[in-house]
Amino acid sequence: MGLLEIKSEVESFCSKSESCVKAPEVVAVSKRQPLEKIIPVLDSGHRVFGENRVVEATEKFLPLKEKYKDIELHLIGHLQTNKVKEAVKVFDVIQTIDSIKLATSLKKEMDKQEKDIPCFIQVNTGDEDQKGGVSVDALNDLYKHCVEELNLDIKGLMCIPPQNDVSDLHFALLNKLAKEIGVEGLSMGMSADFKSAVKYGATYLRIGTSIFGKRL
Ligand SMILES: *Cc1c(COP(=O)(O)O)cnc(C)c1O
Repeated sequence: MGLLEIKSEVESFCSKSESCVKAPEVVAVSKRQPLEKIIPVLDSGHRVFGENRVVEATEKFLPLKEKYKDIELHLIGHLQTNKVKEAVKVFDVIQTIDSIKLATSLKKEMDKQEKDIPCFIQVNTGDEDQKGGVSVDALNDLYKHCVEELNLDIKGLMCIPPQNDVSDLHFALLNKLAKEIGVEGLSMGMSADFKSAVKYGATYLRIGTSIFGKRL
């Protein structure tokens, strides 16, 4: 499809949807995509990218950031505490906080590197064992701890709906949870379901294959 077409579809969906005040930002998910595919997107002017692994992101994006200074790189995959140091070096937004332990370790490292990185809390809206994210029941405590004890900059919530479920239910739930705790950011919607995410008020869509094609 290509990024331009996606962006114009997002615009048109937003203008048709009452709940969409402003078209969401597209995070171009470049995981397992080669530089030959990423560089043309950068040269077209796009700057917001998403990667799910710290090592891969570091290898690809530290050099790219030398040349394209205003890249905004989002971490959209699970973060292990032993990778926090590297993550704070390369990422500009962390979307996958899911425990007090991780949040605490991130805060410590941000202080060390003198950075204040905007974060999202990932919510396991489908209550799946294998999936990252805090459970819906534990969200409130985690959010409070992040803001009140750690003084982290929590911009919003992020979710990945279960593969075989209707995404709409999860997007509606995430929207409701964000309202309840009082955050504005909503990172939801991928290639297959971004249109419905727009309808439910997404502020960030995370789109990979529709922009870059199949992953390696
Ligand atoms: C890979 C990935 C995406 C992008 O998925 P596509 O179907 O390629 O658009 C979005 N979000 C997360 C968390 C991912 O890991």
